[in-house]
Amino acid sequence: MHLAIVRSRSAGAVLHTHSVWSTILSEATAGGSLTIEGYEMLKGLDGVGTHEHRERLPIVENTQDWAAAAPRIETILREHPEAHGFLIRGHGLYTWGKDLGDAKRQIEILEFLFEVMGRKRGMAWQQ
Ligand SMILES: [Zn+2]
Repeated sequence: MHLAIVRSRSAGAVLHTHSVWSTILSEATAGGSLTIEGYEMLKGLDGVGTHEHRERLPIVENTQDWAAAAPRIETILREHPEAHGFLIRGHGLYTWGKDLGDAKRQIEILEFLFEVMGRKRGMAWQQ
């Protein structure tokens, strides 16, 4: 899986999380992607210079056989050349960078944005 991402994105580092917010949003979002837009913190993603950026993270179904799923991931990454990561439904997040520091920054940015979106949706549900 990591090698599939390295090949597709020329990444120097690939990171994967099992965070609460990535798990919740991967299940709470209908359809095949999660869209995040309008937040200042988007500028922490590689190559993004404005809050007006629209980040679209593909959501793939979970599996226990990632060796078999790797070609499907490569196809999804080809189909979403702008994506800085992807979610696995009910599982977590993958992202990457040119080096470990870059990938860690993207994890921090995406996890921050997931928490903002999750808390915002939670507030909307309570109203
Ligand atoms: Zn995992």
